[in-house]
Amino acid sequence: MSGKTKIMERKGKDLYERLYLVEVFKGMAVTFGHFISNFLDNSKLYVRHYPEQKPEITARWRGRHRLTKHEDGTMKCVACFMCQTNCPAKCIMIEAGERVDGRTEKMPVRFDIDLLECIYCGYCVEACPMDAIRMDTGIFSVTGDKRSSFVMTLNDLLATPGAFTEEEYKKGGA
Ligand code: SF4
Ligand code: SF4
Repeated sequence: MSGKTKIMERKGKDLYERLYLVEVFKGMAVTFGHFISNFLDNSKLYVRHYPEQKPEITARWRGRHRLTKHEDGTMKCVACFMCQTNCPAKCIMIEAGERVDGRTEKMPVRFDIDLLECIYCGYCVEACPMDAIRMDTGIFSVTGDKRSSFVMTLNDLLATPGAFTEEEYKKGGA
């Protein structure tokens, strides 16, 4: 099979064109012009002005975890280890103890989640038979200056409230 070859003329005949200097400076002038206009007025930029402007978090969005409670304030978790067993990142560490609030038999005496290992997959939430763990806190940013500050403890998880109503959470399909 023979194809017809089209020979394109190479652009850039004189020295300026061959060095591309004029075109480089033209391009830089356009970039610099955009920089100045956006620097003076950035309201038309298609970016989110974080952190002044927070992102809209929906109930389906998986944020930092929390442990839920019954209406009387007792924790729902029964230390069944389903979340720990299903966690692909192996970042949940639970120690079970005897229940002291009169409900069922067991409760966690230690419940740590290492957020540096967590991949926010939500399997722990899916696996829980008690709806005791959720990722509906709306917390999208976790910061710290040492590794241990990224390990959420039982108290941290119990103290964090949900960011949505029950209706919103269920409607979100979480
Ligand atoms: S979100 Fe996934 S990785 Fe993170 S604790 Fe739950 S199961 Fe483990
Ligand atoms: S959070 Fe749920 S799955 Fe995990 S130990 Fe507690 S009851 Fe079991």
